[in-house]
Amino acid sequence: MAGHFEPFTQMMTEPEEVIRAFLPELSLPPLIACVVHLTGETSILSRLHPPRLVNVVESAESGQDLMEGGYTPAEAQMIHDELMQAIAGFRSGDGKLPQLSTQVTQELLRFMSGGNVKEDYLEFISEEVALDGVDRRAVELDTDALKAAAKEFPVIIIGAGLGGVLAAIRLDEMGIPYTIIEKNPGIGGTWFENKYPGCRVDVSGHSYSYSFRPNHQWTSYYPLADEIRQYFDQSAEEYGVKQHIRFNTEVSQAIYHEDGGIWQVDIVGTDGQRETLKAKAVISAVGQLNRPKMPEIKGLDSFTGAVFHSAQWPDGFDPAGKRMAVIGSGASAFQIIPEMAQCASHLTVFQRSPVWMFPNPAYHTPVGKGQSWALHKLPFYSKWYRFWLFHVATEGVYDKTLVDPDWNKPGSVSASNEELRRQLTAWMESQVRSPDLLEKILPDYPPFGKRILQDNGTYLTALQQPNVELVTSGIVEIVENGVRTADGQLHEVDAIACATGFHADRFLFPMHVEGRDGIVLNEQWSDNNGRAYLGITIPNFPNLFCIYGPNTNLVVAGSIAHNAESQVNYALRCIRMLLESGHDSMACRQDVHDRYNDRVDEVNAGTAWGFSGVENWYKNSEGRVTANLPFRIIDYWKMTRKPDPADFVFD
Ligand code: NAP
Repeated sequence: MAGHFEPFTQMMTEPEEVIRAFLPELSLPPLIACVVHLTGETSILSRLHPPRLVNVVESAESGQDLMEGGYTPAEAQMIHDELMQAIAGFRSGDGKLPQLSTQVTQELLRFMSGGNVKEDYLEFISEEVALDGVDRRAVELDTDALKAAAKEFPVIIIGAGLGGVLAAIRLDEMGIPYTIIEKNPGIGGTWFENKYPGCRVDVSGHSYSYSFRPNHQWTSYYPLADEIRQYFDQSAEEYGVKQHIRFNTEVSQAIYHEDGGIWQVDIVGTDGQRETLKAKAVISAVGQLNRPKMPEIKGLDSFTGAVFHSAQWPDGFDPAGKRMAVIGSGASAFQIIPEMAQCASHLTVFQRSPVWMFPNPAYHTPVGKGQSWALHKLPFYSKWYRFWLFHVATEGVYDKTLVDPDWNKPGSVSASNEELRRQLTAWMESQVRSPDLLEKILPDYPPFGKRILQDNGTYLTALQQPNVELVTSGIVEIVENGVRTADGQLHEVDAIACATGFHADRFLFPMHVEGRDGIVLNEQWSDNNGRAYLGITIPNFPNLFCIYGPNTNLVVAGSIAHNAESQVNYALRCIRMLLESGHDSMACRQDVHDRYNDRVDEVNAGTAWGFSGVENWYKNSEGRVTANLPFRIIDYWKMTRKPDPADFVFD
């Protein structure tokens, strides 16, 4: 069974003054919960208000730390004092933690969630954090007949990134044999591929891990790509997944055969070797952002220097002393530009659209000794720290993304979105001296129209370096020695990094996937109009399940690891339902799928990213949002907890 539920066996042996010196580094809300766990009583809760969500902008304006729950310095002192007393009491006792009753645990959860939350929120967050150590997302088979049937139900997983490794771990728990087909020579998906300088995750690292395998080793709060790649590699190693992976191998086509409900999966190795595999089900975990999109710019091929996509950064490429160009200003460019500014002799940034950025002083901050101590040794700190990160992320900003139909001020979609716009503008203005530069970098679209990036000041500092030039005149062509823009200027450069995004609207691309009655997935989807029920199952494609499929990307609110767990949970419960039914196949009903997608489109249209006139990679060329989940993460969690047999056709 998956599960790393910490037994808290590491003793807090450090002297009192050492522990006290660690405390300022720690997040306050989890410390309140630690007091309750160490003492077994809840009186501290009556002396404090529940932790308050301080949004990142408010935090930057007031100087109050986002992770501090809105407590004053005097309250912080009180929390620290009570914690020190609780630790002293615990250390002088028998070494056993008090067992919290269900009632006390519920009271604590309610307090930590802000005091006024519904029961289903408590259930949702309890499952994610698993305070009691029970892994509620494991799918079990409880009869010998089911266990025997599982052994005869081979599954092919496509992709060994976050979703593929997760699906493998969970299938293995069910005793279902599986093979992973992975195009790369290693594990990690996007974290294996993206090796550009500065690549790091822009959600909190301590929530970017499987719920059953939290990682307390991250060396920074927003870890670099290679550390994340290692996490998935180690997860695969630990759960025995590696020996089931066919590396350097791509799926070229997958064809469903009605007779016996078999998927025929054709694979091809990088050595050209072809093979056909058979499976009872296919799980696609190929991601949304794994097929790099080079810009279609006249003359790109004529450039004589190095030109490459950000996700295909050449091994050993050294930008030092070169005249570099970066095309794009999205999440990848945002991380590459400060790195290039430091080493290139000259950097020209070609920006088509500017981006909004959130102030986040911790974006590059290493995890200190105190935080590391607490995560490893302070009982229950790691659980409540994850809880708090998750709570802040899920409850944080969703409402600010919703369109108020009565709002008609350009550049925002509601009063709260306008207020955010004001705050983000003030943050950017505080960093830039030149009005000309400011005019170029302030977006005219609403916050959340495109992904908002995490900023600790590095990006705008880089743009103001003497060796950096921001060009906003459109690119008209690339010539052998540079880039020509609409204002007639030729920008001579030695190398061009295209941080121009991915074929995000082409799901499962470029595989040929054929379902029932010869229906081709790409045709059903008209190339770029991916739709699935819950983003997971597709009519006419029996026993095919997608992880991170159409309309499952999270823009605000929550963690993609959590969402992948919801999808894997749903897919594997479908497989269990199929095994129980004795049928060969199950396919989602067309009407159920259509109704769901109508709702997805309706809600997406009422968000800042779905708003007409806003352009982003979440939309396809027809303007339909195909990438994003429009719902609150708790609602999606509820939808995916348990499949309803009435939603499927069984054969
Ligand atoms: P992206 O957000 O799609 O950005 C592509 C950029 O290239 C945009 O600025 C786009 O301009 C520009 N562009 C595209 N074609 C162009 C052309 N022909 N000429 C000039 N400019 C052009 O791609 P990305 O930066 O790779 O990020 C994609 C997603 O990956 C992110 O939103 C995020 O979800 C994920 N990501 C995450 C991280 C992280 O966790 N830190 C890092 C990187 C990526 P327009 O905006 O005008 O289209």
